[in-house]
Amino acid sequence: MSEPSIFTRILQGEIPSEIIAETDNAFAIRDIAPQAPVHLLVIPKTQEYRNVVELAAGDPALLAEVVGLANSVAAEHAGGDFRLVFNTGASAGQTVFHVHAHVLAGDLDEKSVGG
Ligand code: AMP
Repeated sequence: MSEPSIFTRILQGEIPSEIIAETDNAFAIRDIAPQAPVHLLVIPKTQEYRNVVELAAGDPALLAEVVGLANSVAAEHAGGDFRLVFNTGASAGQTVFHVHAHVLAGDLDEKSVGG
């Protein structure tokens, strides 16, 4: 078993962060360093999958649950429209290898494709 990720430690209450929404298998928090007016993270409760490719291959229903929770929190915290970003790999900006979706919303640069 690998060391608990920062997100597992948040889920277990070891690191303070408000869980703003959850489903049976996923939860959402605010990003500590927001890159957009609304910047939330949606995270599977398991840290078994390091990135979205592993998650899609290993548990597509859980990926669908993550997308559904992203939609819910975007509806609640933004106008409903949102950008969903999964950084995949260190050179693409991934720093936490416990798969998570960035939910970005509110006054985004229309031309930008990054977070
Ligand atoms: P990534 O770079 O795609 O792996 O995303 C990791 C994200 O986790 C970054 O946007 C960080 O700002 C965010 N992050 C790191 N630590 C915390 C924390 N304690 N609470 C909330 N977000 C965090």
